[in-house]
Amino acid sequence: MDLRYTAEEVAFREEMRTFFREKIPADIRRKGAEGHHATPEEMIQCQRIMNQHGLATPNWPVEWGGKDWSPMQRYIYTEEILAHDVPAPLPFNVHMVGPVIAFFGTEAQKKHFLPRIANIDDWWCQGFSEPGAGSDLANLKTRAVRDGDHYIINGQKTWTTLAQVADWCFVLARTNPEAAKPQQGISFILVDMKSPGITVRPIQLVDGGHEVNEVFFDDVRVPVENLVGEENRGWDCAKFLLANERSGIARVGTSKARLRRIRELARTVQLNGGTMWDSEQFRHKVAAVEIELKALEMTQLRVIANERARGGMPDPASSILKIKGSEIQQRTSELTLELAGPFALPFRDPEEELPEGTNDFTLGFGWADAAAPTYFNNRKVTIYGGSNEIQRNIIAKLVLGF
Ligand SMILES: Cc1cc2nc3c(=O)[nH]c(=O)nc-3n(C[C@H](O)[C@H](O)[C@H](O)COP(=O)(O)OP(=O)(O)OC[C@H]3O[C@@H](n4cnc5c(N)ncnc54)[C@H](O)[C@@H]3O)c2cc1C
Repeated sequence: MDLRYTAEEVAFREEMRTFFREKIPADIRRKGAEGHHATPEEMIQCQRIMNQHGLATPNWPVEWGGKDWSPMQRYIYTEEILAHDVPAPLPFNVHMVGPVIAFFGTEAQKKHFLPRIANIDDWWCQGFSEPGAGSDLANLKTRAVRDGDHYIINGQKTWTTLAQVADWCFVLARTNPEAAKPQQGISFILVDMKSPGITVRPIQLVDGGHEVNEVFFDDVRVPVENLVGEENRGWDCAKFLLANERSGIARVGTSKARLRRIRELARTVQLNGGTMWDSEQFRHKVAAVEIELKALEMTQLRVIANERARGGMPDPASSILKIKGSEIQQRTSELTLELAGPFALPFRDPEEELPEGTNDFTLGFGWADAAAPTYFNNRKVTIYGGSNEIQRNIIAKLVLGF
C-alpha cells in the first residue's frame, strides 16, 4: 500500500492552504488557535466565504454544489481547515441534514433547503438524543402523531448543540409504536424552531459555556411535507447521517496545530530560570503525543486507501480513528493546561500588574485563559459522535469478528 502523497495531492494541499490563509479573516483564525470558540456570526461569515468559492459542501452530490473529489482530497481539505484554525462548516448543516435531504428528500425539499443549508441561511440542530436514548438511540420516545396534513410532536430531546441559535431542527420521532422492531417505527422530520410549543432550556457546562440544551416539544404542529423519506423509515436516514458524521473524526489537523502551538508557547513560559521547553520531562510528554499522532495519521491514510479499494464504502476501522483521535485531542488539551498552570482559568484581571520575574502572558494571554475551559470542554470528545465504548463494540464485532 503506497501511503505517499502524489504530486497532484501536494498541489491540492497548497491550493487549500493558500485559500484558507488568504480568504478566512486572520483574527477569527487566531481566536481559534488560542482555544476560543468562534461566535455563531463568525461561523456564518466563514462558511459563506467558503460557499462563495464552492468550498462549503464538497461532500454533497455535484449537482447540489458538491465536488467530485477523491477521499484523499476530502481528507486534505478537512485537515487544512483544522490546521489553519478555520471554523469548520457547520456539521449539522453540511455533514448531517444536507446529505440526508440530497439523498432522501423530495425535489421541492432539495430546491428549498439545500442552498439555504450551504449558506447557513438556516442554522440547523440535531434532535436525536433523548434522556434514555443516546447510545441506544432506537429507544427514543418522542412521538409524532398524524393529524390530517400535519404531525403533532410531543417529547423531549437533550444535548441538542446550539439549539438556542438554530432556525430548524431535524428530529427523529416515533410514528409507529407498534412496529415489530424499535428501529422500524421512526421518522425523520424537519421542524421549524419558531413553531409554537417548542421550549429550549440551556444545560450549563463545566467550561462555563452554553453549548448544549434540552428541547421540549409540546403539541408542536409540523406540516406533513416536512417528512424526509418514507414514514417509519427514518432509521435509514439516521444511519446514513451517522456514517457521514464520522468524516474527519480523527481531527489530525486540530491536534497537529495544537502541538505546534504547544512547542511555541513552551519556549515562552518561564520555569526555574529557564522555560518549560528546557524541561526534559515536558519535552518527553510532547514527543509521546507526537509519535501517537504520527501513527494515527498513518492509520488514517490506510483507512482512506481501504475505503478507496472498497469503492467508497465506509471502513469500520474508522472507529479506531475516533478512539485514538479523541484521546490525542484530550492529551493536547492537558499539555496546554500544564503550560498555562495557574493562569489556566480566566480569573485574572488583564490590567493587573504582574510582579517582576513572573510569566507575562499579555502576548498570549488569550491562550492561557482558554486552557482550562478547553480542557473541560474536550471531555466531550470521547462521548459524542458515538462514545468510545460503542466504537470498541463496533471494532470487536465488525473488525475482529467477535
Ligand atoms: C457535548 C455534546 C454534544 C452533543 N450534541 C448532540 C446533538 O447536537 N444532538 C444529539 O442528538 N445528541 C447530541 N449529543 C448526545 C450524544 O450523541 C450522546 O451523549 C451519546 O450518544 C451518548 O449517549 P448518552 O449521553 O445517553 O449516554 P449513554 O448511552 O447513557 O451511555 C452512558 C455510558 O455508558 C456507555 N455505554 C452505553 N451503552 C454501552 C454499551 N452497549 N456497551 C458499552 N458501554 C456502553 C457509554 O459509552 C457511556 O460511557 C451530544 C453529547 C455531548 C456530550
